[in-house]
Amino acid sequence: MSHQTTHEANSRPTHTIEDYLMTMHVMERDHGEIVAARLAEMMNVAPATVAMTLKRMERDKWISGKGRKEIHLTETGREAAYSVIRRHMLTEWLLVKIFKIPLSETHDEAHNIEHAISPQLEARMRDILGDPKVCPHGNPFPGCEDLTSAWIPLTQIPPGDKFVVRRIHEFAEDNHELLSFLDKNEVRPDVEALLVESLPFNQTLTIDINGVLLTLGFAAASHLFVEKLGGKQG
Ligand SMILES: [Zn+2]
Ligand SMILES: [Zn+2]
Repeated sequence: MSHQTTHEANSRPTHTIEDYLMTMHVMERDHGEIVAARLAEMMNVAPATVAMTLKRMERDKWISGKGRKEIHLTETGREAAYSVIRRHMLTEWLLVKIFKIPLSETHDEAHNIEHAISPQLEARMRDILGDPKVCPHGNPFPGCEDLTSAWIPLTQIPPGDKFVVRRIHEFAEDNHELLSFLDKNEVRPDVEALLVESLPFNQTLTIDINGVLLTLGFAAASHLFVEKLGGKQG
């Protein structure tokens, strides 16, 4: 008892719960609520496992809800989610900048490291990395959502318009095949491109990226958020 501290690290949830909290925050941020069925899909586990984990999380006051309906993060849950997301994103930057790990691999690698970072190390990382506001995929740090709110899904860009890729949404970050495909084709934050055509009946669009034509399905394109640079006619 004499060594009791108030360090956040000592009252942290387990790795699994931290990963749940991270996904839950994004769901709540984008859709206003946490959906158990969606969570099973995202966490890649059986619905029964999610149900059990949710019960545990409710008992430990990370979430509140009426059974499996209207699940929300509690104040404590949200703080814990913010904490692990910050550690995740700072780790991603470290992997990209120092270790030159490709963007398609940083997310998984970060999961192995993020849970072990102390608040002191987190503060040090933030300083060294220049207090970033978005992760290397362009997703906002908690509290920096305003920065990304003007970026629109690529599916909403009209043909003939130029744009800058700004963000690959969190929910695509662990989609390895998609991320490596984008990486290989140089689709990453800050790259400029032109929307050549959009074929809603076919659910595909084609972009011109550095003179190379690339076709994407609407499903994949909806994870890409871009900043419009204006059309041909100005
Ligand atoms: Zn993790
Ligand atoms: Zn990221």
